[in-house]
Amino acid sequence: MLDPATFTKDADYFHICQNNTIYGTRFTQLPDCGDVPLVADMSSCILSEPVDVSRYGLIYAGAQKNMGPAGLTVVIVREDLLGEVAPTTPTMFDYKIHAENGSMYNTPPTYAIYICKLVLEWLKNDIGGLANMKAVNEKKAALIYDFLDNSKLFSATVQGCDRSIMNIPFVTGDQELDKRFVKEAEQAGFVNLKGHRSVGGMRASIYNAMPVEGVEKLVAFMQNFENSVK
Ligand SMILES: *Cc1c(COP(=O)(O)O)cnc(C)c1O
Repeated sequence: MLDPATFTKDADYFHICQNNTIYGTRFTQLPDCGDVPLVADMSSCILSEPVDVSRYGLIYAGAQKNMGPAGLTVVIVREDLLGEVAPTTPTMFDYKIHAENGSMYNTPPTYAIYICKLVLEWLKNDIGGLANMKAVNEKKAALIYDFLDNSKLFSATVQGCDRSIMNIPFVTGDQELDKRFVKEAEQAGFVNLKGHRSVGGMRASIYNAMPVEGVEKLVAFMQNFENSVK
C-alpha cells in the first residue's frame, strides 16, 4: 500500500491507474490523499464492479474496453473542479465547456454513444447491475487464477489482493514455450493472448463482454496444453 507520508500535501491532484492493464494489478483500497482530489484512469475496469464515485475528484475512461467502441471517452468530474484549467488548455480539453454544452460542444461520436447505450442497457437489464457484473467477473478471474496456482507449467505474475479481475498475465517461464502456447491458442480460436509488448508472456483480458463459458474453454485449453507438454 502507498504511504500517505510520501504524498505531496499541496499537489493539484493525485493520479492513479485503478486497474493496470499491462501488469494486471489493481487498487482494491484507495490511497488516502486528504483534500487533494483523486484522479483515476478507469479505462480497463470501468463498470466491472460498483464504485463509490464520491471518493474521486475525477474519473476518466476510454470506452473501448468495457463500454463500447473506440472513439468515446467518459469523464466523471466533481462539479467544483470544473473550470480549473491552465490558461494554455485547449477548449476541447476544458471539461467545463463540455458540461455547459451537455457534452455536445462539438458533434460527439454518435454511433459510439449509441452502442454504449446498448451496453449500459445490457448491464442494467440482462446482467442486473454492477453488483452482479462484479460477481460474474470475480468468478471468471477465480477460474483462471485457481488454474494458474495449481498448474505445474503456468504461473501468474501477480500474487495476493493486487490481482486484477480484468487482466491476468501469466508465463510458463520459457519464452519459446510461451510463443508456442500463444500460437496454438490462436489456432484454436483464442486470440489476443500475447502479453503486452513491454512485458511479454501471456495475458488473458477478460472484460465484461467475455462470458464465463469463454473462460472455462480457455482454462480447458491451457490444461490440455500443459498435459501435452509434460
Ligand atoms: C486501454 C487503456 C488506455 C487507453 O488506451 P488508448 O489505446 O491510448 O486509447 C488508457 N489507460 C488504460 C488503463 C487503459 O487500459
